[in-house]
Amino acid sequence: MKPLSQFQQKMMDSAFRRSWRDDARAAQKSKCFYCEEPINSKTATADHVKAKAVFGTDHRNNIVAACGHCNRVKGRMPEKEFRKAIEKPEPGQPLHLWVIWSRLKINRRLALMEKRVGIA
Ligand SMILES: [Zn+2]
Repeated sequence: MKPLSQFQQKMMDSAFRRSWRDDARAAQKSKCFYCEEPINSKTATADHVKAKAVFGTDHRNNIVAACGHCNRVKGRMPEKEFRKAIEKPEPGQPLHLWVIWSRLKINRRLALMEKRVGIA
C-alpha cells in the first residue's frame, strides 16, 4: 500500500482527534475534564493530557474533552500540576487560574444541588 502523504496523514490525525474528543466528551457526560463546565460538540476541544510539546501522543488514552479556556490556560502544563493549580490556586497565581477555580467551585456546587433535588 502506498504511504500517505503528509497532508493525508494530517487529515487522518485530525479526524481521529475529533472522534476521540467526541468519545471523551461522551464519557465525561459533556463536561469539561478540568472545570466541569458543560461543553458540546462545538465548544469541546481535544486536550492532550500530556501535551504534544512534551511528547504526548495523539492516542485516545491521552485525549480528554476540555473547554477552550482550560485547554489554552493548561497549555503544556502537566495534568497533575494544572489540576493542583485549579483546585487550590496559590496567592499570586495568574487570574486565568482563579477564573477556572471559581468555575469549578460553582459547577461542583450546582451538580450537588441538582443531585439533592433529583435533577441529576
Ligand atoms: Zn474547562
